[in-house]
Amino acid sequence: MALRDKVRFITPYTPGEQPRESGIIKLNTNECPYPPSPEFARTMAQIPPESFRLYPDPNENELRDALSEVYGIPKERIYAGVGSDEVLALAFLTFFTGGGPLLFPDITYSFYPVWADLYQIPVRTVPLDEDFRIHAEDYCTQEDKAGIIIANPNAPTGLYAGLDLIERILQANPGIVVIVDEAYIDFGGESALPLIDKYDNLVVVRTCSKSRSLAGLRIGYAFGPQMLMDALWAVRNSFNSYTLNHASIVGGAAAVRDTAYLKQTCERIIATRERLAGELRAMGFTFPPSSANFIFAKHETVPGSEIFAALRERKIFVRRWDLPRIGDYLRITVGSDAETDALVAALREIIKEKGAEV
Ligand SMILES: *Cc1c(COP(=O)(O)O)cnc(C)c1O
Repeated sequence: MALRDKVRFITPYTPGEQPRESGIIKLNTNECPYPPSPEFARTMAQIPPESFRLYPDPNENELRDALSEVYGIPKERIYAGVGSDEVLALAFLTFFTGGGPLLFPDITYSFYPVWADLYQIPVRTVPLDEDFRIHAEDYCTQEDKAGIIIANPNAPTGLYAGLDLIERILQANPGIVVIVDEAYIDFGGESALPLIDKYDNLVVVRTCSKSRSLAGLRIGYAFGPQMLMDALWAVRNSFNSYTLNHASIVGGAAAVRDTAYLKQTCERIIATRERLAGELRAMGFTFPPSSANFIFAKHETVPGSEIFAALRERKIFVRRWDLPRIGDYLRITVGSDAETDALVAALREIIKEKGAEV
């Protein structure tokens, strides 16, 4: 057997670009335009270098205590890891490898099919309707399932599905783990978190990357029944006993506790999102109502690929997927007000130029 044939090759997830040049307006990976909490900054500046001599706390107590206090969930029902990507990757391994297909929408976070492929979990994608909406009954089928995962608000559409829909799916699937990925919930919609007291098959996953401006720190967490969280810890501890480093545990706890700052940041982003929505509409873009920190928009005449390329020439990065149904859409992160002004000015020019050609 050739060496090549003994190696596992897999098609990985492609993250949005992280350009190194300066002067770029970066609206392609849903990062927050505002700095992290000042409490986080103070805490990080005070960490003694000496404290890195030891391995970090494998149980991440400081961070989990902070999460427990802020969200009112007992610590035994909280798991934290290196970004929600790692939490989700381990959750797929822990909950979804038991046979049957995993169900998720055809248009959703594009990491889900990659993890499924990594663990060889069969998948059944469920088409969203023409307005990109999820229908609960599509997930209430009698088939044998490995599990269900729903991003709410969904990515890249920004659409929020009500808790009644989530509850119908939970009720119709006893004994099957349903993960609700709430990466964007701080920007709109009601969290499914209170439902974890009512359903033993619900896991809610969140992140500090978007609303808490800490994409670079890599903190994600899950809430769920203790039995499922214990299983997640056991899988993690069979893989790496120290996933979160000391700075993330201590700094993350400070950031999580600063709920006033979180609220202020989210309010600013929501206000800018609504202003951007008005500007886009006036230029002939259509988009589903966004409950996230991005807008998923399509122009009525100018193809998405052309707008994407023209924005890039002007050093404005947004995200686009060359996929069926969504090829003409651009996912535009809500940036600062100044970035939004620059984006709107660039789009006006581009639409005027290209619009004249069609
Ligand atoms: C950004 C994102 C994540 C991953 O976030 P982390 O930075 O790994 O915490 C997970 N799910 C969705 C839907 C996302 O958009």
